[in-house]
Amino acid sequence: MEKFEKLGLCEHVLKVISNKKFEKPSEIQEKTIPLILEGKDVIAGSATGSGKTLAFGAGMIKNSTKGKGIQGLVLTPTRELAEQVAQSLEEFAYYKELEVVSVYGGVSINMQRQKLAYADIVVATPGRLLDHMRNNNIDLSDINFLVLDEADRMWDMGFKDDVADIVKTCPKEKQTLLFSATISGDLADFSDKFMKAPVEISVETYVDTSKLKQVYYDVIDSGKFSLLVHLLKNEKADLVMIFCNTRRNVDFVTMNLREQDIMAHAIHGGMDQSKRIRVLKGFSEGKTNVIVCTDVAARGLDIPGVSHIYNYDLPIDHRDYIHRIGRTARAGAEGIAINVLASRDYDNFSTILRHNEEMDIKREMTPRFERVSIKLADDHRGSGRGHGRSRRNDDRGRGRSSGRNMSRGRDSRPPRRDSRNSNGPLRNSRNDSKPQRSNYRPRSSEGRSSEGKPMSRGRPDSRGRQDRGERNKRSNKNDGFNGGGRNTARRQGRHAE
Ligand code: AMP
Repeated sequence: MEKFEKLGLCEHVLKVISNKKFEKPSEIQEKTIPLILEGKDVIAGSATGSGKTLAFGAGMIKNSTKGKGIQGLVLTPTRELAEQVAQSLEEFAYYKELEVVSVYGGVSINMQRQKLAYADIVVATPGRLLDHMRNNNIDLSDINFLVLDEADRMWDMGFKDDVADIVKTCPKEKQTLLFSATISGDLADFSDKFMKAPVEISVETYVDTSKLKQVYYDVIDSGKFSLLVHLLKNEKADLVMIFCNTRRNVDFVTMNLREQDIMAHAIHGGMDQSKRIRVLKGFSEGKTNVIVCTDVAARGLDIPGVSHIYNYDLPIDHRDYIHRIGRTARAGAEGIAINVLASRDYDNFSTILRHNEEMDIKREMTPRFERVSIKLADDHRGSGRGHGRSRRNDDRGRGRSSGRNMSRGRDSRPPRRDSRNSNGPLRNSRNDSKPQRSNYRPRSSEGRSSEGKPMSRGRPDSRGRQDRGERNKRSNKNDGFNGGGRNTARRQGRHAE
């Protein structure tokens, strides 16, 4: 406690910290809180789980007074993160009795409007906040504290202009804090324009690698789903998160896991918000053990008890890999990240390895596993389609992307391939993937052996060109999911929400 007191936190927050039995400030708290309390603008490079909510909350709570209008505004990229940050701030502000209101899309706007009337602090996703601004539901003229949380993600999702519009509406005289896992050129532009002599702080460790084991299995494309089922049934786990790159794959994997009596629940940006909240709540309370999700669930969420992360698809953006694995091995607990790698993932895997050279991702021999049958339900096909147009859907979908409008009657067509030999939805999807130029390849032809047999050791290979033709042949043969048009793979990962 002594260390917290030295940081200059107000007594209200200190009391909460004492109740929570936090022993000492985290690195980001130690480095940023004194600057924030001095009134400085701060750019903090920090990841989820670093304790950043308390870091920015400390100043905001100390400098806010109940009933004096909205004084603090936090912008987050996703609804889930908005909800979580609002809950945390509410806890830290408990003894000061500040009203913290969360504002995000997918739920009733009227209820939010009523709450905004007496809010002291607002945590919002940009799209819904702009809706409130346009409807004159919110007065930002008292803002003296603005936080951009997970700013790089907000930029990735296309919120850059919206954030600028919001910032321009806030008073000039205010303190601005920017928290981001990475600081790109775009973010630097933002800080040049909107921040006052910001101090830059970064924290080295994103993931406690001493507690986190990382492995990968290299499996033939058509065995990918079967191997996942095998591992899920044989690994002793607490809470499990399975990541896919697209909503379609999330729906596909969820549905088929249920066919295998694994009661998985899906979370992605195309789902009704109340359902997303319900699933996350069930998961964090341990009522649901397995969730299948896009990267919407990788950022910021702090769910204790996640023992296993599966990457069913390797993320296109290497930073997402870090965010995904950061959902486990938290607060001193052990965790494992399991990458289920098939040819379509080689490019992404190579990129991840290239950017994280210090990471030790061990190859596991692929065990013998039973091939399970896979269902390609017609009723499933509509649900994930049509949302691939934008990464901004999380807060902006607002019914635009029902997908059914995009179907051009495809639902009535027969499936194009044998459903028993697949590990993803049909190939004529907007989100389809085809093999890309890859640096990663299995070392020997064993890699093409039948499913269930141990695979050869593989590792990134700068001479990847050599094997490309063969690999493409193999992928197209085994997995219609990989056989889309030339550029489809590039599109795949951009529609993650
Ligand atoms: P955050 O990065 O803000 O989402 O925080 C991640 C988790 O760490 C939350 O459950 C916080 O309550 C917790 N936490 C924050 N600061 C500390 C600390 N100094 N000691 C222990 N836990 C903390």
